[in-house]
Amino acid sequence: MSASLENAATEVQPTNPWLRKQHPWSSPISDQPEAAYANSFPTLSDVMSEQLAQELQEEKSYTPTSQPGIASQVGASQEQCALSEEQNVEEQRETDSDMLLAQMLQLEYDKEHDVELQKKEASYNRGRKITLSFANYRLTHPDLFDDSSSESEDFDEDAPEAVINEDCRTIGKGGISGKGKNIITKHDPAISARKNASKMMEFGPHFDTGDDIDVEMKFPNHVYNQLKVHSMSEQKRQARIHDKKEKSTAEQALDPKTRLQIYKLINNEILESVSGQVSTGKEAVILHAYGGKLPDKLVPAECAIKVYKTTLNEFKTRDKYIKDDYRFKDRFKKLNPRKVIRMWAEKEMHNLMRMRKVGISCPEVVFLKKHILVMSFIGTDQKPAPKLKEAKLSHDQLEQAYVECVQMMKKLYDEAGLVHSDLSEYNILWHQGQLWFIDVSQSVEPQHPNALEFLLRDCTNVSEFFTKRGAADVLAPQRLFNEISGLDLAEGETGDFLLQLQQFQKQRYLHERAHEASEDYPFDFFFEKSCAELSQGVTKKGEGSATKPDGKIDVDEI
Ligand code: ATP
Ligand code: MN
Repeated sequence: MSASLENAATEVQPTNPWLRKQHPWSSPISDQPEAAYANSFPTLSDVMSEQLAQELQEEKSYTPTSQPGIASQVGASQEQCALSEEQNVEEQRETDSDMLLAQMLQLEYDKEHDVELQKKEASYNRGRKITLSFANYRLTHPDLFDDSSSESEDFDEDAPEAVINEDCRTIGKGGISGKGKNIITKHDPAISARKNASKMMEFGPHFDTGDDIDVEMKFPNHVYNQLKVHSMSEQKRQARIHDKKEKSTAEQALDPKTRLQIYKLINNEILESVSGQVSTGKEAVILHAYGGKLPDKLVPAECAIKVYKTTLNEFKTRDKYIKDDYRFKDRFKKLNPRKVIRMWAEKEMHNLMRMRKVGISCPEVVFLKKHILVMSFIGTDQKPAPKLKEAKLSHDQLEQAYVECVQMMKKLYDEAGLVHSDLSEYNILWHQGQLWFIDVSQSVEPQHPNALEFLLRDCTNVSEFFTKRGAADVLAPQRLFNEISGLDLAEGETGDFLLQLQQFQKQRYLHERAHEASEDYPFDFFFEKSCAELSQGVTKKGEGSATKPDGKIDVDEI
């Protein structure tokens, strides 16, 4: 046995108590166990050699041990390994056992496999921040396996066996175990890396940690910390999204059917997302949404969804009034409240479209589905433009706003053929330095039996607001009314003016519908119109509740 061989062997193969003392192929007679071990460490082909087996038997050097025996002898001294004559005889018998021989051969084979495995593991993990352990693929029990080449950087070669053994690398509550130079703390890289990996499994369901069953993962602290921070911010983001979703549905107590419709709008990509509630008015809930896309139309980046309330108070009030009127009793009963409400939504859509067509600043219609109207959002970044009442206007802006308002009312009457009918500082928004008219579901044509009354009310609201704010040259309501309607009613006492106006309206109505003349014509007219539209199917393309004064319908297909 040459010295160089001995040195080479000890270089490659560090001390290992079990292999050194128990290796079946080493000579117990040798007083240089290290050298004996190194010299006799066989390859698999050696192991399979019958001749070698024979020689070994003859040498009687083999100390057979059962599995538990091997473990129990770990750390045994050289002296303890010296066998008595009696034991030799006993072991000779055992060596003869084919079963035991096969087991020992298998063990050696498994060890070779594991050496290869560890080399693969080392090359796989080289330069990686996250290392994978192939320990689960080892064929030998960790207690039985020890190879210098298997020592990963995490393991201290000189550490006691209990520590080297991965399964035993645990730290007590005090955070310290071992003594002297073998002391290990909770900061031990291998332990904390493995701990980090297992803690990652607690990050929460949103964090895809992969499958931790088959591979053992180790993360250095800085990698773990980055993952943890990411996990926490993810969790917060998820909560925010969830919160927003909830706000846009539950808080406004939209009924499930409405929610389903809105969900469909998102699903069809017409809308990208619904951000939340903008307002809850008398008639409707307004939501903000981010626009998606339509095949043949540009969807505004920000949209307003107007959801008409299915329990319309105004409708109920009218319900009460009409129930007591014998002429409407039967017909009214036949009306499905949901359908009437859809009619209001459609009416707003048609009115907005008419207004846009003649260049009046108002929301642009995007989509109508049942009682849900999607239009462009007047405002920026989810913040609706202020109502005229709330807008902080300079004196010049106020003057400009008044002039603009009168022009818009005139255009509405003359070109769009509409009277707003609910115009006030609440339904006019101030956005991008100009006025925007909104909320036109109740707007009517000038031919409507009540249109002139509604117009006078609008004029009164506008005049009063601008006068109160101190705008110059504000026209009196009656003057403004005459200006817009083109009529020339005698301006005087408010009561007289209203009386004149009503007389004019009635005569016009009687002239147009002579055969349907009635004392209570406004309601008669209104509901006959609504019912007629309903029975014709107002939702059909080209038919609308807002017809032009000439009776023609100019509804673009949506
Ligand atoms: P109210 O009873 O308060 O008049 P309503 O039920 O008639 O409400 P709207 O007037 O159409 O509904 O809308 C209520 C509020 O929602 C408006 O005052 C306005 O602040 C906001 N709003 C409506 N439509 C839009 C829009 N297209 N863009 C931005 N904000 C809007
Ligand atoms: Mn309104």
